[in-house]
Amino acid sequence: KFVIVGGGWGGWGAAKALCESGVNAEITLIDALPDPTGNTPYLSPTGKPVEAGTRGFWMDYPNINKLCAELDIDEDDVFTPFTNSSFYSPDGLEATAPVFSKTKLTDLIPSTIPIPDVVSDAISDTIVPALPSPLGQIVATFPLFERIPLADRASMAGLLLATIDCLGGDESVQEQYDRMNAHDLFLKFRLSKRLVEDFIKPTLLVGLFKPPEELSALVVMELLYYYAL
Ligand SMILES: Cc1cc2nc3c(=O)[nH]c(=O)nc-3n(C[C@H](O)[C@H](O)[C@H](O)COP(=O)(O)OP(=O)(O)OC[C@H]3O[C@@H](n4cnc5c(N)ncnc54)[C@H](O)[C@@H]3O)c2cc1C
Repeated sequence: KFVIVGGGWGGWGAAKALCESGVNAEITLIDALPDPTGNTPYLSPTGKPVEAGTRGFWMDYPNINKLCAELDIDEDDVFTPFTNSSFYSPDGLEATAPVFSKTKLTDLIPSTIPIPDVVSDAISDTIVPALPSPLGQIVATFPLFERIPLADRASMAGLLLATIDCLGGDESVQEQYDRMNAHDLFLKFRLSKRLVEDFIKPTLLVGLFKPPEELSALVVMELLYYYAL
């Protein structure tokens, strides 16, 4: 007999693998939630809706694609197209993260800069070519900040240098970054206080549930490289 505790992706995946392994056993998956499927809206004690977990997928979720194919589910029937996501600080909307592979050249030009119709018509359907991470993300996100001033945004270039140094380095370089906290990393690479406070810190609180001073610089670089930037 097997009992798997917790019906999230981890527990459910373990149960599925066990069932498919051909083992001759009784397999039970249990969960503390009344409805772990996520079908029932999850409310706080005061009745406010709470986002309890997974609500969307990024492009590279091969296991989800494989599962849909296995269950003969047409992804177009169950998923919306990829959409922008928005980053809020206590002051309001800070930035909109684009769907990178669909960023058009015209999306990068701030609306305050006038461009002649003939130019905008000529480039209106041009998709920005894929650039290496995190350069591509920085270029695509740069014009989409709502309130952070240009000079503060420009300090993101420090992250580019940090990425090349940290993720491009060998294991001993990465160990040095792992011993440093992310707060010190941001100071070392001269990220602006405003950019950190209003954009990067909230992103880390959502992604890793801790502020920069409590996070390894290496882990933060990996998060920003693969996900947030
Ligand atoms: C607010 C939020 C939003 C997120 N959004 C996304 C997203 O959009 N896309 C994405 O890919 N990921 C998202 N994530 C991350 C994703 O939800 C997790 O990575 C994923 O759910 C982890 O799966 P898991 O099986 O390890 O754990 P969980 O999904 O947390 O599953 C653990 C399960 O165990 C149950 N459990 C715990 N203790 C017990 C117990 N003692 N007895 C019985 N049952 C128990 C819990 O009820 C829970 O159902 C989000 C996470 C959060 C918190």
